[in-house]
Amino acid sequence: MFFGGGGRRSRDPNAPRQGQDLQYTMEIDFEEAIFGKETTIEIPKEETCDTCDGSGAKPGTSVHTCQHCNGTGQLNVEQNTPFGRVVNRRVCHHCQGSGKQVEEKCNTCGGDGKVKTRKKIDIRIPAGVDDGQQIRVTRQGGPGVNGGPSGDLYVVIRVRRHEFFERDGDDILCEMPITFTQAALGDEIEVPTVHGRVKLKVPAGTQTGTHFRLKGKGAPNVHGHGQGDQHILVKVIVPKKLNDKQKELLREFHELSGDESLDEQQDNLFQRMKRAFKG
Ligand SMILES: [Zn+2]
Ligand SMILES: [Zn+2]
Repeated sequence: MFFGGGGRRSRDPNAPRQGQDLQYTMEIDFEEAIFGKETTIEIPKEETCDTCDGSGAKPGTSVHTCQHCNGTGQLNVEQNTPFGRVVNRRVCHHCQGSGKQVEEKCNTCGGDGKVKTRKKIDIRIPAGVDDGQQIRVTRQGGPGVNGGPSGDLYVVIRVRRHEFFERDGDDILCEMPITFTQAALGDEIEVPTVHGRVKLKVPAGTQTGTHFRLKGKGAPNVHGHGQGDQHILVKVIVPKKLNDKQKELLREFHELSGDESLDEQQDNLFQRMKRAFKG
């Protein structure tokens, strides 16, 4: 004879057990993730029934040991197999594994000992939190069994996408369009950061794809290790519509700079390409 099946160790059904851990997903804005916030969430929750104090018995009625399992919460089910007689242990369905039976069920919880409620919980979202990170709120999970402690609540943070900004760890990335005249002549431009607008000097001759770093304008590290940067990636925009006057000026510019302008700028890629096409 051997024990097969579920393989669950028989354990004292009356021993205190910690409640289940719960998970809750929360969506927040990009800026809220940077600066953090205090908020209140409402979660569906099972709580110990106040009416019966979790026993499942109608107040004034008695609770006695389950006769079917003798209070162990488990039943041995014998089966004949080609290998002989096998005994499987199953959770006692008469008492749902509690080892106890109530004379009359509690009206509030229907004998479960637990009731479904909604509970408000204050959550502090730390500054610098990132998408997918979890905040653990201790002892706000499912109720403990037989006087055991409650489980924990894990709040999973989902950060909504931003129109301009993108997170890369503690750093923030941002693409910044500039006109081709700004790129050629240089300019001082205003760039958005989560900390407000910042002036940025674009030197004359700036190429598309040039990268600028604004130190300390990123997200604070969620563990308090300093502050990230903001990275600006410049994108030079070539105008799609030109009026006659603009066309005239650009043609004039083209004639003035001629075909030699690329050579003068020592652009190796273009030089190599030109050589390649001349064969
Ligand atoms: Zn109850
Ligand atoms: Zn039982």
